[in-house]
Amino acid sequence: MSVTADSVWKNCLSFIQDNIQPQAFKTWFLPIKPVRLTENALSIEVPSKFFYEWLEEHYVKLLKVALTKELGENAKLIYIIKMENKYGNSESITEKIPSSNRSAMAPQELDVPVTSKDPELKNPFVIPGIRNIKIESQLNPNYNFENFLEGDSNRLARSAGMAVANKPGGTSFNPLLVYGGVGLGKTHLAHAIGVEIKDKYPEKTVLYISAEKFTQQYIESVKKNTRNDFIHFYQLIDVLIIDDVQFLSGKSGTQDVFFHIFNHLHQNGKQVILTSDKAPVDMQDIEQRLLSRFKWGLSAELQVPNYETRVSILKNKLYRDGVEMPDAIVDHVAKNIKTNIRELEGAIISLIAQSSFNKREVTLELAESIVEKFVKNTKREVSIDYIQKVVSDYFDMDVATLQSKTRKRHIVQARQLAMFFSKKYTKASLASIGSQIGKRDHATVLHACKTVDNLAETDKQFRKYIEDLNKKFT
Ligand code: ADP
Ligand code: MG
Repeated sequence: MSVTADSVWKNCLSFIQDNIQPQAFKTWFLPIKPVRLTENALSIEVPSKFFYEWLEEHYVKLLKVALTKELGENAKLIYIIKMENKYGNSESITEKIPSSNRSAMAPQELDVPVTSKDPELKNPFVIPGIRNIKIESQLNPNYNFENFLEGDSNRLARSAGMAVANKPGGTSFNPLLVYGGVGLGKTHLAHAIGVEIKDKYPEKTVLYISAEKFTQQYIESVKKNTRNDFIHFYQLIDVLIIDDVQFLSGKSGTQDVFFHIFNHLHQNGKQVILTSDKAPVDMQDIEQRLLSRFKWGLSAELQVPNYETRVSILKNKLYRDGVEMPDAIVDHVAKNIKTNIRELEGAIISLIAQSSFNKREVTLELAESIVEKFVKNTKREVSIDYIQKVVSDYFDMDVATLQSKTRKRHIVQARQLAMFFSKKYTKASLASIGSQIGKRDHATVLHACKTVDNLAETDKQFRKYIEDLNKKFT
């Protein structure tokens, strides 16, 4: 019996079927068609790019084992992606992608100075060796600059990130602190900078770590009496990326150790990149000396993307997944999900999934119901826009009036209330509240909050406003 694409795939399938859940097998493997077999390479056709990414992410090992059994050590798998094209011409376009074409980040080797050569050097990122250690950068190559779309909301942060990537440690952006609300791209941008640096300067040791994990490692090191090793380890890094530094708030031991690491790196021209959900001025329970270090370099905000940027992010996502969708649907999603790019992506992924798996055509109705789910789930998070609207309505004025430059007392009060409630009910920074409520600066917002506090104590009528409005937000 001769070996064909069909026979090879059939054997692979029976092996795969034995190793995964029936539902997963049905969803992810039955729709695949074997297309061609040349020597040791099997080409398979998958229904969409989304499908391909899913297979690569979840089943690449299984596929490899199955294929190696059939075709030997050098077995290769090639995906042929049928580009979905339901809405245009009927011809289908295909794209060929070899398996695992996304190169994983290679571990970085580093010679360890004598003091730390101690084989006891225990760190989750280190495989202890006699002469040199390997450090995984922990970078995710899927978060890169290429797919971090530029818009007004991120231009400063993105260009600063690029500048740092071009000359790590060699710009005045050290540290570079990227801050902004949830789901606005801080983690993505932080990885992108690291990935770009590894591309340009493969010899540099880059390490990405969340502040939370950093803290856990530190606590562990104290328990195990290896605090010095912990510090030495971090002092070896050329580019240190710490995500969500607001997590260090109130943790004085970790802040202290980070302070020493930071100073060492900074003095030696190493690059530090930080992200945070707040601007340094708004960070609480972070030691002054550390805060002042954060301000040495550049703090760049990621703001809420405008409508155009939201549309281009969605279109780019669809393009990369090889899915087409009518403009009206993209438009609907972009108009309704405004303050969180992760949710924007989540909604579009749900839509793609629906169309891919259920072979259901994506209609505006389906889009509306999915968007509604996303919006509902996040309703509890009051937005600054919403607060301004409610306060304006309450005082019978429109939002533009509330935001205007006028000093008329009742308008000023409405504006101050809007700022006060934004501070109270959103996670936005003072600066970002100010910029969204009539382009004021953070000092104005701070002043507004204090004024409202004072008036609440002294002015009965004013206290009534606060109580009435408060009910609308809780
Ligand atoms: P944060 O860390 O600020 O909470 P993330 O970096 O996790 O946010 O981003 C949330 C999602 O939005 C990620 O999937 C990310 O890829 C995507 N995203 C954010 N900003 C952009 C952008 N400018 N272009 C494309 N995708 C983006
Ligand atoms: Mg993040």
